Amino acid sequence: MERLISNLKKVSEALGIELPQEIYEAEKHYPFLISSYYLNLIDKTQLSSDPIFLQSFPSEHELEQNELLSEDPQDEQKHSPLPKLIHRYRDRALILTTNRCSTFCRFCFRKRRWKKGIHKEDISDEELSKIASYLKTNNEIEEVLLSGGDPLMLSNARLKAILDVIVRIKNIKTVRIASRIPVTLPERITKTLSKLLGSYSNLWFVTHFNHPRELTSESMRACRVLTSAGIPMLNQTVLLKGINDSPEVLRILFRTLIENKIKPYYLFHIDPVCGVAHFSTGILKGLEIMRYFRKNLSGIATPQFAIDLPEGGGKINLQPSYSADNKFFESIEGGKIIKYAD
Ligand SMILES: *Cc1c(COP(=O)(O)O)cnc(C)c1O
Ligand code: SF4
Repeated sequence: MERLISNLKKVSEALGIELPQEIYEAEKHYPFLISSYYLNLIDKTQLSSDPIFLQSFPSEHELEQNELLSEDPQDEQKHSPLPKLIHRYRDRALILTTNRCSTFCRFCFRKRRWKKGIHKEDISDEELSKIASYLKTNNEIEEVLLSGGDPLMLSNARLKAILDVIVRIKNIKTVRIASRIPVTLPERITKTLSKLLGSYSNLWFVTHFNHPRELTSESMRACRVLTSAGIPMLNQTVLLKGINDSPEVLRILFRTLIENKIKPYYLFHIDPVCGVAHFSTGILKGLEIMRYFRKNLSGIATPQFAIDLPEGGGKINLQPSYSADNKFFESIEGGKIIKYAD
């Protein structure tokens, strides 16, 4: 079987389902792509509630439009001093290394990068060298994020070439790779790759698990290969309506991640991006879950709940409020009000 599959019709037939025409309409706008590994995680007996199916199969809701939605609400284009570079914060900048992914996540906020279909757009040597000059000139930048698409779609040789250019820049002290490959294509995480990434002493790896069903022996092996090579691992999760918007589901996910030396870093609310609004839970749901965690989940397993403001306003953390006046506070059990004399 091919490793990556883009024929929605064939896959649906293999699953024994007939998709309505609207779904093929959605697919015309936002193509379908899934790794055979991720496809095999689908539980065919309960498709309509299956978290793997819902994250990877198109839905007719992707074509819904309203005036609040945008292709690029964060205005990443505006904060892009050069092609493939986003510089929005003082000490860190993000490189779009490729538009390729191993599976197209239906809730992706950079859908604009792959909506035209499966065409390869990797960063070129020329683009990289311009970015390197920019990073050198703007020496307040101390951290580079490799993002995409998924950077691990690049070959080991290409990754090494990019990393070598970046770590040679004196002011760059930290590199962060953001990749969902451990979740969707764990076989890509080989010993050779982990040795390569582990050879950079300042490299962090941020992966992207959304549901305990993604915690398979294969994905956990992939993460272990990385952590064993001395690479610190973080995880970001997107809060997805009807998929993981349950405090217990997320508690189990985050607990299992820390058991595997992966620190839950962010829990993101869905941004107002075209084609993903149907996954939005509302901010209150996220705050309710954070409140549940305070009592039920270890601090080291608890991520920050964040939204990314439109118009390039940046990521901000949201916390449930325990006090209206910063004098009287609600206990974590709720119900009891306690005075705090500062
Ligand atoms: C999210 C993001 C970062 C990283 O932000 P952290 O809060 O440090 O994780 C950097 N640059 C851009 C453009 C981003 O969107
Ligand atoms: S792997 Fe990341 S960039 Fe690719 S589709 Fe999923 S969320 Fe988007």
